[in-house]
Amino acid sequence: MNENKEVLAEVKNLRKSFPVNKGMLWRRRSGAVRAINDVSFNIYKGETLGLIGESGCGKTTLSRIMMGLTDATEGEVLYKGQQVGAGAPSAFRKEVQMIFQDPYSSLDPRMNIRRIIEEPMRIHTKLSARQKLDRILFILEKIGLDEDALERFPHEFSGGQRQRIGIARALVLQPELLICDEPVSALDMSVQAQILNLFKQLQQEMKLTYLFISHDMSVVKHVSDRVMVMYLGRIMELAPKRKLFGNTLHPYTSALMSAIPLPNPELRRARTLLEGDLPSPLNPPAGCPFQTRCPKAQAVCRTRMPALQEAEKDHFVACHLYSGEAGA
Ligand code: SF4
Repeated sequence: MNENKEVLAEVKNLRKSFPVNKGMLWRRRSGAVRAINDVSFNIYKGETLGLIGESGCGKTTLSRIMMGLTDATEGEVLYKGQQVGAGAPSAFRKEVQMIFQDPYSSLDPRMNIRRIIEEPMRIHTKLSARQKLDRILFILEKIGLDEDALERFPHEFSGGQRQRIGIARALVLQPELLICDEPVSALDMSVQAQILNLFKQLQQEMKLTYLFISHDMSVVKHVSDRVMVMYLGRIMELAPKRKLFGNTLHPYTSALMSAIPLPNPELRRARTLLEGDLPSPLNPPAGCPFQTRCPKAQAVCRTRMPALQEAEKDHFVACHLYSGEAGA
């Protein structure tokens, strides 16, 4: 798929399990939570890959593995063909940066803005004080803050401004790939739109690639070129945005779509309500992981896990309705 595009990062057959221990005194292993289960995909240079799913679907674990902050149980992540992990080359540490959900807790309240933005350059570069200041001022202008912000502290800024500062800190090392973990979900709706537009503007100006994680389909729709839908640690659907929204295949994606508010409240859309909670990853259902909540589940769904297959060009789906195992 996407033969002509340059692959920046590759995720291959990734699995991540966390052991579960029992007993107060003798902590015996009693099972394992499978947070990520056989996940493979590419990120292409210059694109925004939106990753959507409910809380507990594995998106944060995936982002931590991609940052080299947690090791995978099986499989691998490659960045520019080199394996990511504890011993990743220093170029990776500069070129892949993360933007966090909470602009309040991700900035050190004891540091002024100059020190916060300077910190990554102090650790990863040998730039002179003048060079560092020039780069800080350049980034500050890009994110829309004035020079007088430099000597102030995080508590003096609004939520949107703090997120701009978090973006500046991530950009100061001139990264290529930004992993954005729910970067607007803690912000007011009006501020969300401004920050999403800033992400788009920065992408064009600085030739950035994004993995953009969200639980909000309208946010993903606004920013993404391709969209990947995850459920219980597996990919359910992966497609270019136009195909995913124009020809939604997976019942779980349809349910997420129907939760997007319509601009005109007079208009009504047939809603697919998701019943019940996400099953426990400690004890996932047999067969398709979505079968306990799926309005289209059939007998085969309760026994066999559907593989992720290409249903149309560049449009992948894991569902028996398209695998030939059940009637569509
Ligand atoms: Fe629903 Fe079956 Fe498709 Fe799973 S495989 S999404 S249960 S129809």
